[in-house]
Amino acid sequence: MITIPSRDLETTTRNLGLKIFDQSERRSSRFFSGLFWVRKFLELSFRYPKLKLELFRFVDVLPSLRSNREITEHFVLYLLSEDSGIPAWIRKTLRFYASLFPISVLFGGFVRFAVGRASGNFIAGRDLKTADANLKRIRAKGNVFTLDVLGEAALSEKEAVAYQKQYLELLRNIGRFSGSETTGYGRSPFVNVSVKCSSLYSQISSLAKEESISALKERLRPILRTAKENGYFANLDAEQSDYKDVLLTLAEEIFSEPDFADYPHFGVVIQTYLRESENDLKRILEYSKNRKTPITVRLVKGAYWEYEVIRARERGWEIPVYENKRETDANYERCGRLLMDSFPRVLSAFASHNVRSLAYLLSYAESKGLSKRDFEIQMLYGMADSYKIVFSSMGYRVREYTPLGLMLPGMAYLVRRLLENTSNQGFLQNLITGRTNFETLLSDPGGSNE
Ligand SMILES: Cc1cc2nc3c(=O)[nH]c(=O)nc-3n(C[C@H](O)[C@H](O)[C@H](O)COP(=O)(O)OP(=O)(O)OC[C@H]3O[C@@H](n4cnc5c(N)ncnc54)[C@H](O)[C@@H]3O)c2cc1C
Repeated sequence: MITIPSRDLETTTRNLGLKIFDQSERRSSRFFSGLFWVRKFLELSFRYPKLKLELFRFVDVLPSLRSNREITEHFVLYLLSEDSGIPAWIRKTLRFYASLFPISVLFGGFVRFAVGRASGNFIAGRDLKTADANLKRIRAKGNVFTLDVLGEAALSEKEAVAYQKQYLELLRNIGRFSGSETTGYGRSPFVNVSVKCSSLYSQISSLAKEESISALKERLRPILRTAKENGYFANLDAEQSDYKDVLLTLAEEIFSEPDFADYPHFGVVIQTYLRESENDLKRILEYSKNRKTPITVRLVKGAYWEYEVIRARERGWEIPVYENKRETDANYERCGRLLMDSFPRVLSAFASHNVRSLAYLLSYAESKGLSKRDFEIQMLYGMADSYKIVFSSMGYRVREYTPLGLMLPGMAYLVRRLLENTSNQGFLQNLITGRTNFETLLSDPGGSNE
């Protein structure tokens, strides 16, 4: 492993970060593709932190509400309560008007419309047909996508089978977007799908590891086979830490089956908020090195931070995630270095909207002589569009994580995205509120160079 003086790396990171900030517009409106309602939602949650929790609870319950009147009643209950933090005169006025007919009905309809518009910013379409124009737009920008069929953990086998069917249909009908780019290490397919295993098997559990893996293999094989037959990429997304061992073992076993062992377009995810993640990554690196052909690791920080902390505290367990964001960030940089040190025996995708995290890893890649197409930058559909433009204009491959599904059932996805991005320590909140200057946003989280 080449040792690069950390001071030099910090200087190049800072310079690159400032260049990225400079080239992308700082205004929050652009950060979210200009969608008014998402911006308003974020601004409100920054201004009234208590309201934020109530907003999440409301959005969570919204899909189950049938009539506009019911929506208004729940809106008042959750968002206009005394402890919401909203000034009393605003609360009282809104409560008064919300109680009048037909305002109560119209207001419910308006709320449904606004939330639908907000989720529409993050969800490309119901299915391939309705998402077609948005997918073409991504390709026209020179970017690629990974498709995700929205779904939370399956509650029944019927749901799980339906989810599998959706993926198979997707893979059979996405041909018009196929193609690939030739890179220094081989071919990189344009079409890429991201699969959530808890939606493929309703009984997934770490306590029944063998059974879970065996059932998931049955469901996954047709998906992986169809991806392989068409030359597409298939990724197993990371979920709650409870499933981590099931998913990593599943990946190692199924990607080594005779049908799949020589196929290079499979991937897994490592979440660097997990204290165990560096060891998990080393395990996957070893696996990839010993496989006939490398797999890809998508490096993320992790989307379930609140869940992991609350659940562990409730049960008196050791908290599996770092509790200080800078530790997660530093671990992201350490793991990113490990990945690049192992190129091309493992391929990498860096999924983040944090300019410091990306600038650090891009500087490290350059110092190691890696080309800009030897790895990918991945970002969520509907977010950080100005950064996507900057990175692709610099010559990097940018892949957009693009969900497909119905707006209202996709709400859980929306809630998670907003939770991650409005957390006190999140990069986005600091950027939008202007609470932190660029130099601070680009500062060393500490410990990355160890
Ligand atoms: C393309 C793409 C694919 C993704 N796929 C997955 C996936 O498969 N599985 C998954 O779990 N997530 C996934 N994510 C979400 C990802 O894990 C992050 O939650 C999200 O990207 C925010 O991180 P950031 O680097 O962009 O922003 P930042 O603001 O720099 O980081 C926010 C993250 O820091 C961590 N954090 C927040 N507060 C604390 C704290 N107090 N202590 C320690 N850590 C903290 C959390 O992980 C939080 O999400 C994906 C993200 C992208 C862009």
